[in-house]
Amino acid sequence: MISFAANLCRLELSCFHGGRRSIATVISGNITSKLVRERLRKEVEEMSFSGFRPGLVVLQVGDRDDSNLYISTKLKVAAQIGIEAKHVRLPTTATQEEVLQHITLVNQNPSVHGLIVQLPLDSVNSINTELVTNAVSPEKDVDGISCENAGKLSRGDLADCFLPCTPNGCMELIRQTGVSVAGKHAVVIGRSKIVGAPMHDLLLWNHATVTTCHSKTRDLPEQVAKAEILVVGAGRADMVRGEWVKEGAIVIDCGINHVPDETKPSGKRVVGDVHYASAYQRAGFITPVPGGVGPMTVAMLMENTVKSARRFLQRELSRR
Ligand code: NDP
Repeated sequence: MISFAANLCRLELSCFHGGRRSIATVISGNITSKLVRERLRKEVEEMSFSGFRPGLVVLQVGDRDDSNLYISTKLKVAAQIGIEAKHVRLPTTATQEEVLQHITLVNQNPSVHGLIVQLPLDSVNSINTELVTNAVSPEKDVDGISCENAGKLSRGDLADCFLPCTPNGCMELIRQTGVSVAGKHAVVIGRSKIVGAPMHDLLLWNHATVTTCHSKTRDLPEQVAKAEILVVGAGRADMVRGEWVKEGAIVIDCGINHVPDETKPSGKRVVGDVHYASAYQRAGFITPVPGGVGPMTVAMLMENTVKSARRFLQRELSRR
C-alpha cells in the first residue's frame, strides 16, 4: 500500500442541490499516479548499481492509432522512471508463429523483466489472443493477464502474482479515500479479463462483499443502489446515472468513451461510463474521466515492471 497522505490527492467540491448540501471528493489519478511514478523513480535509482536497469518490452502487431498512443505514453513514463523500455512492432502480416517466436525470445532475455502484448492484435492473419497472452512467461507478465497470474489472483494469492494494472490502479484510488474496503458491499459493472473480473477478485480478497454485473444483469440500477463501492468498466458512455448511486458511495469509473462534441477542435471528447455531473452530487468520492483511472493503469504497469526487476535481482543474489 502506498503510504502518502490521502488528502494530497483530493480536490474537494462542494455544491448545493435542492437545499441539500452534498460534497463529492474527487480522487485524482493524475496526482496519485505522479506520486507512484516518483516513488518508482527513486526505487529504480537505488537498484541502478553497476548499470542495472529494469527492462520492459511492448510488443505490438500492426499500427492501430489508439494502440500507438497508449504505447507512446507507456514508453514516455517508463523513460521518466528509468526503465529501459523497448517497442517491438510487427507488421499486420505477422503470423501467430512469428508473434510466438518473438515472445519466446523476450522470455529468454534476462535483461527484460516485463513483457506486454498490446491488445487488440491488428493482424490480417488469424491470431489466437489467448494463446499469445499465455505465451508470455508468468514471471514477466506485468499486465497480469496470463491464466497463471489470473488464477492466483482468483484464489487470493495476491502476493504471488502480478496484479492487472487497471484494477490495481482502481484499488490504489480506493485506498486514497481512507475508507476501509473490508466488509463493504462492492458492485463491479463488467466482467472482462482485464477490468471487471480481476476487479471482482481484488475487492473480494480485500474483504469486500462483491456483486459483479454484466450485460445480462436485469436490475442494474437496483444493484448499483446497494454499492458502497462502485467500480464501472462497461465501455458505455454515461451509462450509470447519478440517481442510481448510493449517497456517499465511492465511485470509480474505468470507462474511456469518445463522444461527439462540436465545441472541441477534434470534434469529440472523452467521457466515462458514469454520468459524472449527476453522480458527483451523490457520491462521497468519485474519479474523473479523464484524469482518474487512466493514468493509474500506466503507473501500475511500471510498478509491476519494477517489482519484476526486483524479484530478478533477488533471485540473482540468492544464486551467488
Ligand atoms: P469489454 O467490452 O471487454 O467488457 C465490457 C463489460 O461490460 C462486459 O463484461 C459487458 O458484459 C459489460 N457490459 C456492457 N454493457 C453493459 C450494460 N449495458 N450493462 C451491464 N454491463 C455491461 O471492455 P473492457 O473491460 O476492456 O473495458 C471497459 C471500459 O474500460 C472501456 O470503456 C475501456 O475503454 C475502459 N478501459 C480503461 C482502461 C484505463 O486504463 N482506464 C483500461 C482498460 C479498459 P458481458 O460480459 O455480458 O458482455
